[in-house]
Amino acid sequence: MIDLRILITGVTGFVGSHLAEYCVSLGHEVAGTMRWRSQQENLADIRADVKLFEADLRDATAARKVIADVRPDRIFHLAAQSYVHASWSAPAETLSTNVMCQVHLLEALRDAGHEARVHIAGSSEEYGEVLPNEIPIKETNPLRPLSPYAVSKVAQDLMGYQYYKSYGMWIVRTRAFNHEGPRRGEVFVTSSFAKQIALAEAGKGAPYLDVGNLEARRDFSDVRDVVRAYWLTLERCQPGEVYNIGSGRSWRIGEVAEMLISMAKVPLEIRRDPARMRPSDVPLLEADPSKFREATGWEPEIPFETTLRDSLEYWRERI
Ligand code: NDP
Repeated sequence: MIDLRILITGVTGFVGSHLAEYCVSLGHEVAGTMRWRSQQENLADIRADVKLFEADLRDATAARKVIADVRPDRIFHLAAQSYVHASWSAPAETLSTNVMCQVHLLEALRDAGHEARVHIAGSSEEYGEVLPNEIPIKETNPLRPLSPYAVSKVAQDLMGYQYYKSYGMWIVRTRAFNHEGPRRGEVFVTSSFAKQIALAEAGKGAPYLDVGNLEARRDFSDVRDVVRAYWLTLERCQPGEVYNIGSGRSWRIGEVAEMLISMAKVPLEIRRDPARMRPSDVPLLEADPSKFREATGWEPEIPFETTLRDSLEYWRERI
């Protein structure tokens, strides 16, 4: 097997850390970007195997330096302000961070005349408002984003297309549907539920599960399945193309709450928290992942119950 130099931006994050583990397990050389204040806890098990570079990618100089130092064969661009909810209170920061980080990265590659395969992590949130007759969602669906985060991801996605077309760069874009599992930030719905349950079990929290919109439906996959998919994008997909990554089925958020409550060691009641509601929420996201599956042969392997159980276990160990 050829030993490849992999660069993962946002390696300290939820997906980045799982992807780094997967790349290390394949025997490749792994480098990643972090910011000076980034927590490194997610990398605890592979810290010695990942070369970290301090780079806030909003700084073009930092991006150029990372490319010059790593000379990567493969780039997984994950660094972003990734939280939809926060994008409502910080729309300008979300847009500027997500667009600027990527333009600096791609321009750094161009300036260096360096050829690498690049994966851009778009999101199902780009689809936004989806009509009932458009389910399951294909890549050809109109993009009707409903949050500043979603708009920033549309911009990243189309920028990837433009750099492929204008400069012939080897870029594949994905629109991944929700992925969950251990290390998911506590602000995200499944992780927030799991943490609240772990707190209640430890006698450190109220016997309630505070929830937002329970009616929204999302297509969930396990992060460990998704990072395998990301790896395949740069091995088997067509540059210039965009692919949905998802399980192809959706769960109501209320169902997720009930599944997690059924795993709890103490009784819990569901309680509505208006602060967890969004100005406009996407009611239903369900992928048609057939284009990606045909290109790569990828299939999700981890059942959603296992994902939720592992998330709960993750929080139990930390409370
Ligand atoms: P996280 O928030 O866990 O990780 C984001 C990473 O980006 C962190 O390491 C963060 O560093 C880094 N980062 C943020 N701003 C900058 C910056 N200015 N310069 C350099 N690094 C920066 O997100 P996830 O791991 O969940 O998501 C990874 C990517 O996948 C994101 O682009 C997200 O939008 C996308 N995605 C995620 C989905 C999901 O369900 N998880 C679904 C679809 C897409 P720090 O630790 O310092 O904050």
